[in-house]
Amino acid sequence: MTLKENIARLANAYKEEITGIRRHLHAFPELSYQEYETCAFVEQELKKMGLPVEKMGGTGLVSLIEGNDPGSRVIALRADMDALPITEENDVSYKSTRPGVMHACGHDAHTAVLLGAAKILQQTKDQWSGTVKLVFQPGEERNPGGATYMIRDGALKNPVPEGIVALHVHPSLEVGKLSFRKGTVMASADELYITLKGKGGHAAAPQLTTDIILVASHLVVSLQQIISRNNNPLNPSVLSITSFQGGHTTNVIPSEVKLMGTLRCLNEEWRAKAHDLITRHVTHIAEAMGAIAEIHIDRGYPTVLNHPGLTGNAWQLAEDFLGTENVEETEMRMGAEDFGYYAQEIPGCFYRLGVMNKALGITSGVHTPTFNIDENGLELGMATMAWLGANLKLNQ
Ligand SMILES: [Zn+2]
Ligand SMILES: [Zn+2]
Repeated sequence: MTLKENIARLANAYKEEITGIRRHLHAFPELSYQEYETCAFVEQELKKMGLPVEKMGGTGLVSLIEGNDPGSRVIALRADMDALPITEENDVSYKSTRPGVMHACGHDAHTAVLLGAAKILQQTKDQWSGTVKLVFQPGEERNPGGATYMIRDGALKNPVPEGIVALHVHPSLEVGKLSFRKGTVMASADELYITLKGKGGHAAAPQLTTDIILVASHLVVSLQQIISRNNNPLNPSVLSITSFQGGHTTNVIPSEVKLMGTLRCLNEEWRAKAHDLITRHVTHIAEAMGAIAEIHIDRGYPTVLNHPGLTGNAWQLAEDFLGTENVEETEMRMGAEDFGYYAQEIPGCFYRLGVMNKALGITSGVHTPTFNIDENGLELGMATMAWLGANLKLNQ
């Protein structure tokens, strides 16, 4: 039996078990950096397979599967394990047992799929060459990102992978399909915190005050100019002011206003320039109008940049496995993913797994209380992760 046939056969054989694992993880979700039970569960599953486990990154872990000639090639496969602070509204037998916590981004599926891929790779290890490194990380949903802790603790060392691959379930891609994209695929995300201070006073005597409600209003408008006038229109970027807090009554001009917002970029060069422009607008407009401004830009995840060579190879392998008709080009999204940190260190490929099923009404977006997946996608997820783990090379 060829490796491809064997992987397809095993993925089918493990489908039920992996679906059970996904349902277990779904029923017992844990928030970012608190994945204690999930981590222990994954450790136990890996040990059942006879695989070594190294804990790192707080509640993360790494394992290795060696095929023939282990030093010839090293590829890392990554899954994230955390849930979100959302109360589930799905009426399913495996509904979250924890009010206010839900696997609403599909990280339960990612973890289950990687465990399934591990079983397949372990079972077929005399049919492929090299080493597959399994990376199970915590805290994808919250800054600073579990990926930063995994990298800090050496997830990408000893051995150093030539590439790292992750999949994400995609609720607007039909089950049975995969999608890839070379280059930028997800945005950077930075949080903006602006505090304006000025002399408050009687609303009927504005000349004796610094009207920082007006200053803040100018800022909200002016900041949009950065996107519309300074940015290349062909470079997607978003700046949203999402909170405007100040004042509490009709006849008093307040002495403090706070603004919050988010900046999303698909280009690191533009991102750096935008930070500079935002700081300048805030500082100088406030100063010109007599207010004092404090600005803090909390740097979030970087853009996810898919290495063209590695992604091209993964795309080709996916087509070989699945047929060209089931592999599409995916779109760029303005959401963020801490996978971007790995892809800054080594070549990365972040691809999407179809889990939508319109006929069954499974179409809710990620981060919603009705998000769910068509579990038939798990079989393809573990098969492709195993197939890429067994075959993917940076240069081939
Ligand atoms: Zn998410
Ligand atoms: Zn996610």
